[in-house]
Amino acid sequence: MNHVRCILWIVLMLTVLPAAGAAAPRGVDLARMHDWDIVVAERVSESEFHAAQEFQRHFAEATGVTLPIVRNSQGPDRHVFIGAGRSMQKSALAFSVEEFGPEDLRIVVRDDNIVIAGGPVRGTLYGVYTFLEDYLGVRFLAPDHTHVPPVGRWRVIGPVDRFYSPPIDFRWVSYEASYARPDYCARMRLNAARVPIRPVDDLSGKGLGPFGGRTPIHRTEHSFGRQLPPRQYAKDHPDYYCLFKGFRLATVKPGEGGFDFKSGSYPYGMQPCLTHPDVLRIVTDRVLDRLEDRRYLTAPVSQNDGGAHCQCDQCAPIDEREGTKAGALLEFVNKVADVVAREYPDRFVSTLAYSDTAAPPKTLRPRDNVIVTWCSISTCFIHAFDDRSCEQNVWHIEQLRRWAKITRHLYVWNYYLNDETRGYQLPLPNLRHIGHNVRFQMSLGVKGMFMQTTSSSHGNEWEDLRNYVLSRVLWDPSIDDDRVIREWVTLRYGPAASPIQGWIDRLHDRSAASGKHCRCLGGRFADYGLDESDAEAGLAAFEQAMRLAGDDFALRHRVEKASLWAYRAAIDPVWNIKEDETVDLALAERMLPRVRRFFELCKVHGVTRTHELYPQEIERFETKLEKVLGK
Ligand SMILES: [Zn+2]
Ligand SMILES: [Zn+2]
Repeated sequence: MNHVRCILWIVLMLTVLPAAGAAAPRGVDLARMHDWDIVVAERVSESEFHAAQEFQRHFAEATGVTLPIVRNSQGPDRHVFIGAGRSMQKSALAFSVEEFGPEDLRIVVRDDNIVIAGGPVRGTLYGVYTFLEDYLGVRFLAPDHTHVPPVGRWRVIGPVDRFYSPPIDFRWVSYEASYARPDYCARMRLNAARVPIRPVDDLSGKGLGPFGGRTPIHRTEHSFGRQLPPRQYAKDHPDYYCLFKGFRLATVKPGEGGFDFKSGSYPYGMQPCLTHPDVLRIVTDRVLDRLEDRRYLTAPVSQNDGGAHCQCDQCAPIDEREGTKAGALLEFVNKVADVVAREYPDRFVSTLAYSDTAAPPKTLRPRDNVIVTWCSISTCFIHAFDDRSCEQNVWHIEQLRRWAKITRHLYVWNYYLNDETRGYQLPLPNLRHIGHNVRFQMSLGVKGMFMQTTSSSHGNEWEDLRNYVLSRVLWDPSIDDDRVIREWVTLRYGPAASPIQGWIDRLHDRSAASGKHCRCLGGRFADYGLDESDAEAGLAAFEQAMRLAGDDFALRHRVEKASLWAYRAAIDPVWNIKEDETVDLALAERMLPRVRRFFELCKVHGVTRTHELYPQEIERFETKLEKVLGK
């Protein structure tokens, strides 16, 4: 594909260069398009029609001119061709998209015509959003907030002729909004929303709905629990499961850390015995069943969460030889992959390199049809992945580098949430590393990225900002992400932006200067090198921001929501306190009004969770803190 794209690019360049004696191409004045139209294909797909509507809507907001959408163009110029329909093919700017990948796009602006066309699945739609961002200055700041600046009296763009093929083929940020708002995901060009999906070889774009469906690549999940359910097999075949510390874990009684047949639960971390021939047969069958459904390009074969890996006489020597628990796992995965290569040569098996399997084997190599998703769990939140001063990251990133050397299809699973200390609302001072980390991982050959965030609740720390920055960097990793952050804060908070940006800068500067390291997923405010003075600075910043917001109700609402995170930082000293603990009276008096304000804001802004597992946990914290502090 790269070879084809290279040739395509040369052809594009040749078409842009004017022939000797020909007039130089001219750009287009966006302020003088009142007699133009938007031209779509006669048999336009839903996503390309949606693309035309999105162009029409935002262009109208920027210029005051609503361009009609037509299926046949009249005359040679003053058309915005959206998609590669017959009219576009007959125009002076005609080109073919046949060789385009599903998300490839080309934008041409020249001589009183504009073309935005790409792969019919999502390429054209993503092309329109790229055009709106780059030439109209539209910013999709949040699901409920789009910034559309007026074009004014004169805005010449072009001539333009550009081709773009997103370098990351799986892009997903797991905020709640990403699941609830597929329209916003499409605008941010995240390509794994819960929307219709078609067979992997159907590139027509038909039947995929307005957002162009999703990629047939799926996130690699912990799969053995589902593929080899203990409820079905553990009673009669305990040897299907791990021998751990001298016991077959599936035979350990409930109440002694063992298996409860009635509830179907099994001990956390229980892995299968990966050298048992029946286990290989059962898991392989499940994988083939899944791939029979042609909507799936990938099928996972990956460890359960937790670390009870089999220590039997067959499994242990493989791990020993390979110097990692990924030894027996990869040998197993490769065996499944060999069967898949015969049955479904165009599909993939995917596995996790996670926790105990984060380090690669010494001699084994993943087959060419295996996707390895390396998880950055246990890296440091404060430092960039490739920061040599951070010992935590040096070791972990060395493992990623080693995987990169032996893996043809390398993906990553990165973390942007504070889960283990019930810290969904606690500000994380690591926005600045987002772009750098993505570019670094790409430089190692990473092709797909899953960003785990606070997926099961909203109102969590900087969620709209972090979602926006992560999404824009995933689509175009070359973007200046520091500028993206500052622009977002300016546009989102308008006249109230300055103190809020000041507080974000302070948290990042002081955390970086603290010399601390903090494992991802879990940290108190102090673990990030921050203290009560930083929380106080936050409260003061939001007080000032609310004054600057004046009587703009919508803006006040946004600022107030962000202030929630300063209150959360301010009450961190008592957040994880135990119910029977006694608190110093002065501390209790200082904390109580802030605690009450925090929970008040949680109710206004719909905050429900403090971490991944338990819904409505905010209520439990409120009851606890009222009880302890209000004594
Ligand atoms: Zn075993
Ligand atoms: Zn560190």
